[in-house]
Amino acid sequence: MKKNQLMQSPNDKRQYLALTLPNDLPVLLVHQQDAEKSAAALTVNVGHFDDPAERQGLAHFLEHMLFLGTEKYPDAGEYQHFINHHGGSHNAWTGTEHSSFFFDIDTDYFEQALDRFADMFRAPLFHADYIEKERQAIEAEFSLKLKDDSRRIYQVHKETVNPAHPFAKFSVGNLLTLCDTPEQSLQQAVQQFFKNQYGTRRMSLCLVSPLPLQQLEQLVHQYFDALPNEVCAKAALSQPLYLAEHQALQLDIAPHKFSQRLVASFALPDIQPWYKYKLISFLAHLLGDEGPGSLLAFIKDNGWVNQLSAGGGIDGSNYKDFTLSFELTEQGVFAKEQIIEALFGQLQLLRQSPFPQHLFLERQRLVQWSYLYQEPSTALQGACDLSVNMQHYPVDDYVYGDYRMDLPPEALYRELLGHFRPDNMRVMFIAPDIKANREARWYQTPYSVQPLQQSQLSHYLQAKVPASSHLPQSNPYLVTELNLLADAAHMTKPVLVAKESGFKLWFKADTDFKTPKGHIFVQLNLPNCIGSVTQMASSRLWLELFQDQINESFYAATTAGLTYHLHVQHNGISLHSSGLAGNQIKLVADLLAQMAFCQFDEQRFDEIKRQLIRHWQNHSKNKPVSKLFSQLSSLLQPLNPDIDQLAAALQQQSFSAFIAFHQQLLKQVHLEAFMLGNWRKVDAEQLSQALKGWLSEQQQGEALPRQRYNTQGIGPVWVKVPVEHSDQALVIYLPSRQKRPVDMALFMLANHLLSPEYFHVLRTEQQLGYLVGTGYVPMNLLPGIAFYIQSPAASCADLYQATLAFYKNFLSELEELDEDEFVQMKQGLATQIKERDSSLGSRAKRLWLAIGQGDHQFDLNEQIELALEQLSLTDFIAFFYQLLAADYDAIFLATGDKPAHSHLTEQNPFNLLEKLPLLSEWL
Ligand SMILES: [Zn+2]
Repeated sequence: MKKNQLMQSPNDKRQYLALTLPNDLPVLLVHQQDAEKSAAALTVNVGHFDDPAERQGLAHFLEHMLFLGTEKYPDAGEYQHFINHHGGSHNAWTGTEHSSFFFDIDTDYFEQALDRFADMFRAPLFHADYIEKERQAIEAEFSLKLKDDSRRIYQVHKETVNPAHPFAKFSVGNLLTLCDTPEQSLQQAVQQFFKNQYGTRRMSLCLVSPLPLQQLEQLVHQYFDALPNEVCAKAALSQPLYLAEHQALQLDIAPHKFSQRLVASFALPDIQPWYKYKLISFLAHLLGDEGPGSLLAFIKDNGWVNQLSAGGGIDGSNYKDFTLSFELTEQGVFAKEQIIEALFGQLQLLRQSPFPQHLFLERQRLVQWSYLYQEPSTALQGACDLSVNMQHYPVDDYVYGDYRMDLPPEALYRELLGHFRPDNMRVMFIAPDIKANREARWYQTPYSVQPLQQSQLSHYLQAKVPASSHLPQSNPYLVTELNLLADAAHMTKPVLVAKESGFKLWFKADTDFKTPKGHIFVQLNLPNCIGSVTQMASSRLWLELFQDQINESFYAATTAGLTYHLHVQHNGISLHSSGLAGNQIKLVADLLAQMAFCQFDEQRFDEIKRQLIRHWQNHSKNKPVSKLFSQLSSLLQPLNPDIDQLAAALQQQSFSAFIAFHQQLLKQVHLEAFMLGNWRKVDAEQLSQALKGWLSEQQQGEALPRQRYNTQGIGPVWVKVPVEHSDQALVIYLPSRQKRPVDMALFMLANHLLSPEYFHVLRTEQQLGYLVGTGYVPMNLLPGIAFYIQSPAASCADLYQATLAFYKNFLSELEELDEDEFVQMKQGLATQIKERDSSLGSRAKRLWLAIGQGDHQFDLNEQIELALEQLSLTDFIAFFYQLLAADYDAIFLATGDKPAHSHLTEQNPFNLLEKLPLLSEWL
């Protein structure tokens, strides 16, 4: 048995041990002292590329079947039940060349879970009883994504590559591709596929746990030594992805949702051998730059493009597409050739310039910092990432590989640039009114293919560098050094460091995560943006226009390790910045200053207004379940109007009325902010001064109450929400009547118990739909629970009847719940509530939410835990009888008609709103 040393960050306190088991299984063991749970992930170099041509989707089908019973644990639900029961979760995915399986669990049960997990890869049963059920599940998964544009466009891509390359295969599978044939049943096929494809020489296993390495080592031997190793390692792909005839093409594709995009993609060879130089992401940085002198600045100034993203595209073991995706304006649709020409002009600039080493070193410094100060990941995330890395990097780079960024040889940079040629390019034009003469299989995407004209290609070859173009300049937001706060500076809770009329600032220095980063949140309460639906629509447009306008000047911040997000939220607009603490106060001050000074022009107003309205209209094409959930939140939240109402209001808005709105926006500002991270008290003082200085230039206002509709006493109602989709869906929302910690505990625990049961009965047993579940959905600070189901076959009335039958059965079985199980369940939930923040980011969001909810002691979770502890089984059962009673104030949102003979009253959403009383709450 070999053991290896790994490169690891000096601040990374985890211990690693890489070893190979006697059956050739490569294993990485990670001891993470502070991990809340233990986790394991196994990745195998088998994916849909390996599907037999006559049974496409088989690798995916195998992934589904693997969970459902093994030789040692034949019961199909056992694995899932065991994991869920002990505070864990599990999942899997199937990709092109890899599939991955993973779970986490309370450490006390890790060994038993590993026993079950390992047996899946040793002796799965592929039980006949479940073949048909999972076949149906795959079909549902397939049909769920029929209208998904990324899938629809992906299929066109598959049909226009070398048909001998496995990328051309259909990956998901459905009832047609996964069936019994005269030669072989589906069960035999999946058994054979497992035997021929799954073996330790294609696998990588990673365990992350607070257990000592020695113990982990003993566990992997005990459970994984028995995995089969007869299958040989994978041979390299022999076929190229594109032949000459698949290049220099233009594909025109009609999307399902409105979109106007131009995508240029260049075919690169396998980039894996150069992973240590990160040249692809460096090129993406150069070509995707959004600052002054960039490609985007040039084409945006011409009014052709709204956004650009660079560097994405499919990749695999012998191919990589480098794509540049342009989101087109109305004018841009007619300027496709000029845009591509500008792209070649920019490429010409790169070719003429020396290798921009100073820019490379800037990127390298940031990547190095993120390596040195990695935010800790959960055991599960760590195991998943590392088991995949093990498939791609040599042992010493299992951990470091993603961060390694060595200075490349200039020849390699030149070689890569050499692939960006017109004859090595494909152009995809995605727009609703293209002329199609083909239809993609499975997804029926309309499209056409034509070769790019020879004259066009030579024109691109001669493209000139636009006069305004230059490489990115030195970055004003980039800091040169980082200093971590001393541990002694850590504060346990946020403290209100400034409280004046119109202004509050909370501050918490935080050293727990040993990171040089921080988060700043600013909430502006702006009564002039919430007075009417028109104002609410205008504030959303204002935010889009504002971001569009400042993008070029603030782009530098986003490449210096800083990010910022602006939202229309609560009673106004909120700003959230994060990243390296160093220049973040400057960023926030600069952004606020821009808000007060920005000027808008009519042309951009028209374009962005059109875009936003389209974006809202596209919403009606979303999944029925998501549509119902957004309808639910607009039903209950007065400041969150229905999207169709917003679109209608914005349609009416003229430029002059919008300018009047803009001029009133910052009159009456109330500001509340929170700063958390690698900052000292003096930094908080600096932010406080900056915010107060800004505020003194605006007109101050008062804090505003939160408003909500009161649903108490509305009785059970049925709200029909028509959708443009063939599936039917039902969402049942049961809001709490009160918001005491005990109500929160009751609703959380109820969801904990209901969620797997509802899924099991309606999806696994009755096969009513693919999207099925329940969720703890607090709204307006009140706890609540939602049941949701989307079905390709059943009617809403059927879904309703099935749910009522589920209620009835559930209540009768509830009597059998005994004290021991109840206590165990409470403990499981308590573990989840107690879970410490996994990163500075999740802590920041949790505390900011608490500030917004008026939980200024920051102890709501403790109160819920306490209430949970004191909860008796009798009270819990009584709660269910009340919650699932016929007269509970439940809201049934459905895409179809109310069932006949039900006691529900039907309401149209707008009438319902008029009846609900509005409540104001001061937090
Ligand atoms: Zn699946």
